[in-house]
Amino acid sequence: MLEKNKKENRDNDLMEKIVSLCKRRGFVFQGSEIYGGLAGTYDWGHFGLALKNNIKQNWWKKFVDGRRDMYGVDAAVLMNSKVWEISGHVAGFSDPTPDGKQFNVMFKTQIGAGEEASVSYLRPETAQGMFVNFKNTVDAFHPKLPFGMAQVGKAFRNEIAPRDFLFRQREFEQMEIEYFVKQENWEKYFEYWKGEMLEWMQEVGLDMNKVHELEVEKEDRAHYSSRTIDFEFDYPFGKKELFGLAYRTDFDLKNHKLDYIDEEEGEKIIPHVIEPTFGVDRAVLALLVSVYAEDKKEGEVRSYLKFKPNIAPVICAVSPLLKNKPELVEYADLKVYAPLKAEFGRVAWDDNGNIGKRYRRQDEIGTPFCIVIDFDTLTDDTVTVRDRDTGEQVRIKVDDLRSYIKERIN
Ligand code: ATP
Repeated sequence: MLEKNKKENRDNDLMEKIVSLCKRRGFVFQGSEIYGGLAGTYDWGHFGLALKNNIKQNWWKKFVDGRRDMYGVDAAVLMNSKVWEISGHVAGFSDPTPDGKQFNVMFKTQIGAGEEASVSYLRPETAQGMFVNFKNTVDAFHPKLPFGMAQVGKAFRNEIAPRDFLFRQREFEQMEIEYFVKQENWEKYFEYWKGEMLEWMQEVGLDMNKVHELEVEKEDRAHYSSRTIDFEFDYPFGKKELFGLAYRTDFDLKNHKLDYIDEEEGEKIIPHVIEPTFGVDRAVLALLVSVYAEDKKEGEVRSYLKFKPNIAPVICAVSPLLKNKPELVEYADLKVYAPLKAEFGRVAWDDNGNIGKRYRRQDEIGTPFCIVIDFDTLTDDTVTVRDRDTGEQVRIKVDDLRSYIKERIN
């Protein structure tokens, strides 16, 4: 019991540390904070946004740009309410309230004014934006089966009890794929996408020891799914869903009365759908939990985020040793910061406080490399590059900095 309490304290502690680091270092803020917040909403600061963008870009690169069979879509958040009737969401997208009533978690809204007004909903999933563009995509690109559609965008759910920081929000983001296959191949592609999902989780840097697969029982599956695997993650508040993989059968295309002409067989078929779905915000949270680390440096505890360089919000920080020495500042700015910024974009200028303080700050942001310009730099055109994880420092020629960093980004 004592051991269990100790673990719970440690986990609560970790969550508090992550939430407070996110605020202090400009990753994530409470939504509408100055008015006491709005439950279930968060606002992204400069570094959190960079992290989130990197995750989304990495995903897009692997699953869309890196493939020949994937078509991107960016559908409107507001859709004709028929979509949500046909999809089964109006009738069935509900959660039980604490007194046992079913509560539909879609946000209802009004389109237009007065008599002409009609009801619509903020989309609770991005998936329907792809199904309704299935025909457009087939007509425009003539893809052969199997092929997929991919979308990254906001989704809204009026969650009864939003909680656990980014985990359960009312406004969040999804990255989803609808992969269309012939019915007889669904099992093969289900297995294939399971592998792809795991591979991506590893590539972004999730702690794979914390990722678990759960075969979801029939009574717990969404109304459209005849097989679902949840990928669960050991968050500090427990083992909970991270991403999902569903076999949506031909449920959606059939209901929308959409079909596909299989040119090889010369017949009309309704493709079946494998759906890998990823929550962006849960990806960020799971990644923060995975990379948060503490150790002792020079007798002090330091916390740092062990992001892979290609995912880190800042790739490198440039620091003139003393900010009141114009010759150091000028060199650092013109010969180091400007070219690196032009090449990599995510480069920080940091001249605030002593060098130890700067390292601690960049460690907390998760910056893999800190580059320091000192008096030797002025005579021999070399700089110190300090490694975030080991604290080791190497001396490198300014001209070699770009390639040094490039080699370590991918
Ligand atoms: P849960 O059971 O936790 O409510 P779900 O099974 O309803 O999740 P899906 O409908 O499968 O979730 O949504 C796909 C993905 O979207 C989830 O795997 C998750 O990553 C993300 N997601 C769902 N709801 C939320 C939310 N309220 N806040 C943040 N992310 C969410």
